[in-house]
Amino acid sequence: MDYFNFKGKNLYAEDVPVSRIAKECGTPIYIYSLKTLRRHYKAYTESFAGVPNIICYSVKANSNLSVLNAFAKEGSGFDIVSGGELFRALKAGADPSKIVFSGVGKNEDEIEYALKSSILMFNVESPGELKAVNRVARRLKTKAPVAIRINPNVDPKTHPYISTGLKKNKFGIETNEAFKEYLYAKKSLKNLSLIGVDCHIGSQLTEIEPFVDALKKVKSFIKKLRKEGVNIKYLDMGGGLGIRYDEETPPHPSDYGEAIIKETKALDVTLIFEPGRSMVGNAGILATKVLYTKQGSKKNFVIVDAAMNDLTRPSLYGAYHAIEPVISPAAGSETILADVVGPICETGDFLGQNISLPVLKEGALLAVKSAGAYGFTMSSNYNSRRRAAEVMVDGKEFSVIRKREEFEDLINGEALPRIKKSVKKPVKKAAAKKTTAKRAQ
Ligand SMILES: *Cc1c(COP(=O)(O)O)cnc(C)c1O
Repeated sequence: MDYFNFKGKNLYAEDVPVSRIAKECGTPIYIYSLKTLRRHYKAYTESFAGVPNIICYSVKANSNLSVLNAFAKEGSGFDIVSGGELFRALKAGADPSKIVFSGVGKNEDEIEYALKSSILMFNVESPGELKAVNRVARRLKTKAPVAIRINPNVDPKTHPYISTGLKKNKFGIETNEAFKEYLYAKKSLKNLSLIGVDCHIGSQLTEIEPFVDALKKVKSFIKKLRKEGVNIKYLDMGGGLGIRYDEETPPHPSDYGEAIIKETKALDVTLIFEPGRSMVGNAGILATKVLYTKQGSKKNFVIVDAAMNDLTRPSLYGAYHAIEPVISPAAGSETILADVVGPICETGDFLGQNISLPVLKEGALLAVKSAGAYGFTMSSNYNSRRRAAEVMVDGKEFSVIRKREEFEDLINGEALPRIKKSVKKPVKKAAAKKTTAKRAQ
């Protein structure tokens, strides 16, 4: 459920016409609805109201400060995967005692930063990392709270690039191996406190079954650990609940909640969830303007001012995003099938293929739907394109929460090389002396 709806012929973000935002702020532009963000967060808290839980919004889905701040104000925790995300979360007002740190490649600087920030827990993904966290904690004379991310070998039945819980994936540690690591850590890594078990099997899941299959394995794993005196308090189920991009019918958080609560009734743990996509995906659109239209002998092309650098999911995963005109055409007008493409010099630069659209004029606005997750955060400056602006709508108001980049932003931090020119001709003695003297000054 979101708050992007037509009123008459005009697409609105809450109570603001999308065309007005585009006119005032330009295109391409990401537009988020605050009401939708709040609603999605609430859907989770309501689904788990009866049991101890922490919702840790997954920052990588959309890391704009205002988005993070909106969730922090609701009481949300955060799931981070880098020092940069920790910095953002803290800037946005996050409570560090509700931050979990995931990811396969944390470096020692990041581990130190997180320890000094007193986060809730590290989700550790390899034996080497377990030792690294212990080492840094020892150096800082503290104890690091950890969970090991186990790989339950469950097929999440999603796109191969976003499935993470299979043996062939780089994520987590296989269950038997992980068990040994817990026992080893308990015995030998004295600066760790083993408080949790973590499991995240993939993204854009449209069925509950894989979650429950994984949970069953985690449950018996926790019981086994407790028998060995490892006192697990937190069960982190990761994120992964899908959203509707097209015809999918993903479970509502309440269905998901019901299934999880049923399975964990007697387990005596605090549940942690790391939803990303399902919190922000349908809370955002990408508005773009038609630059040109072109009819090839085989295909129609609508060339727009947004490109794969702004929204990479279609190019990267072949992902589908609904695309529709911001101002509806008159009833009964002709429609065509067209590829909606950007200005980037790549054949893979498309936002949609074979999309049914009315015949569009230059300057017409299109809305690329469900663009709130893995949209702006995956954007780049490829082709030296300035990254898009982002806007947050709240009722009748909206504000720019990230301004459009300028040309100067493109070269920020770059410099011409300062390499001494090699001397080719033998230099006269006197002249050489002079140069040396000059240098010495
Ligand atoms: C990406 C990720 C998430 C969020 O996944 P969604 O599918 O967006 O809900 C949660 N936890 C971890 C460890 C992740 O890598």
